[in-house]
Amino acid sequence: MKNNLSKARHVKNAVGIMFVVCSIAIFDVAFSARNSPPLSFPLTGRASGEFPSNWIHGSKSAMDNTDPAIQVHAYNEHTYILRENKAINYEGAFMYLFFGNGVAMLIDQGSTSSPALFPLREVVDQIILGWEEQHNQANTELIVANSHLHGDHYAAWNQFVDRPNTVMVGLTHEEMMAFWQIENYPQQIVTYDLGGRELVITGTPGHQGSELAIYDGWTDLLYTGDMFYRGRLYLEDWDAWVTSIRKLRSIADRYPVAHLVNNHIEMTRQPGVDYPIGTTWQPNEPPMQMTLDMLDVAVGATNDIGSPGIYIYDDFLIYNQIPWYTTTDP
Ligand SMILES: [Zn+2]
Repeated sequence: MKNNLSKARHVKNAVGIMFVVCSIAIFDVAFSARNSPPLSFPLTGRASGEFPSNWIHGSKSAMDNTDPAIQVHAYNEHTYILRENKAINYEGAFMYLFFGNGVAMLIDQGSTSSPALFPLREVVDQIILGWEEQHNQANTELIVANSHLHGDHYAAWNQFVDRPNTVMVGLTHEEMMAFWQIENYPQQIVTYDLGGRELVITGTPGHQGSELAIYDGWTDLLYTGDMFYRGRLYLEDWDAWVTSIRKLRSIADRYPVAHLVNNHIEMTRQPGVDYPIGTTWQPNEPPMQMTLDMLDVAVGATNDIGSPGIYIYDDFLIYNQIPWYTTTDP
């Protein structure tokens, strides 16, 4: 009887110790996630980053392509650039994932809806988990946002609708502007606090009537979406684009822009020559990021171009009110 009692007490003590150890462990995780110093995103100086020397760019035979569906590139520890495999959709769209304290923002969701072909949510979840582990964060909220309202940039939006802890900005002009608190589109320039990371947002229509440009004060990246990239700039509203491109120049005058980043690569490395429309293979692509000199060429174009047509520049083609399927191929 005494033996049994002592054994019972022994077990009870062991359970008690286990409870205390477990509690400390749980408390420790919760405590450190809550009390680790907040990540800081200073506006002074510049958080540097790296672009890959080459992006994955499709293959001669799309059917035999063995590259990942989504290329994930860490520009720096809190900034990810994703690219859809060109063998899945020739648009080869770029998407962006910016992190702040307790929050991540996904800008654009590619050109393919099917999670089997294009598992964007799974890939984004993996990135967030890895980031949380690395930076002692937990319960990161995801904001699903868009650069503009064209289907090759929101096709996998559907994958996120039932995701917990997620804000869906929405796919109407009204929902987009309400989220960013833009009351006077496109003129208004607003700042947005992404968990301590300051973004500057403004309307840049011309390619599409709800497009936004985003300047990230921490990295000095200026995101220009589909209204300015190395490719065929399809402009539905020339006058709007003229105002938008000049506004980008004025933003670059006000803020120390490091690179212009965007959504597609369609130019070859040969000045003024694009890849064929719809190609799923782009060997020897030029970089995605662009320079302020290239922006100045575009500003110059706004003074030169007076009528609809295709205008060829070294680093982009201007399709001024010309259907997208019109080709410059000989
Ligand atoms: Zn577009």
